[in-house]
Amino acid sequence: MSSLFISDLHLMPERPDITGAFLAFLDGPVKQAEQLYILGDFFEVWLGDDDKSDLNRTVIDALARVTAAKYLMHGNRDFLLGAEFAASTGATLLTDPTVHDIAGRRVLLMHGDSLCTRDEAYIQVRTMLRSPAFQQDFLSKSLEERAAIARSARNQSKAHVRETAADIMDVTPEEVVREMQDHQVDLMIHGHTHRPAIHKLEVDGKPAQRIVLGDWDQQGWFLELGEEPRLESFDIA
Ligand code: MN
Repeated sequence: MSSLFISDLHLMPERPDITGAFLAFLDGPVKQAEQLYILGDFFEVWLGDDDKSDLNRTVIDALARVTAAKYLMHGNRDFLLGAEFAASTGATLLTDPTVHDIAGRRVLLMHGDSLCTRDEAYIQVRTMLRSPAFQQDFLSKSLEERAAIARSARNQSKAHVRETAADIMDVTPEEVVREMQDHQVDLMIHGHTHRPAIHKLEVDGKPAQRIVLGDWDQQGWFLELGEEPRLESFDIA
């Protein structure tokens, strides 16, 4: 019995190999799992639950067949995944952050972008994108308009990443400790930074762990949380 965690698959029509790897993952490790957590940026972009593209249908149908309990958190790319998506896949949407009791531990789950507080420009954009007014306005546009806006936002984001120092786009260590203190946990799991690792740290003088999930590109990554956390990777070919 185990709980599996993934994030940052960035599913997109241009990468059928990643979609294939995800479907194989569902038919493999997930078959044995009790719980599947998807911690954001599952899709490269989500224009709204009314976007019935081939990719979206394929993924929804595959997730719906998974018998494990399914939990989904928004990332910065797919923050518009909504109630219809949740209902049609049987997944429960989690707010960011959420604390769950998993494998006998209190675990703090986050996407991870909110931990990158040194990237002030990004944090401002994040606040705007998460506002109900912005989301309502965006969803009232046609799918074509939404796709065009998403493309231009993506280009701006790529330019921002090129111009921003790598350490600024990583988590702020003090912010990690603050969140773990606030939620009284000794284990945090997040994605977003694409720097998979199991970090040891101290919170209030006690040993703690921060586990970073990996993005799916040439390799796929998942975390299995049993007695001991195991971060696994496999080739996507
Ligand atoms: Mn992200």
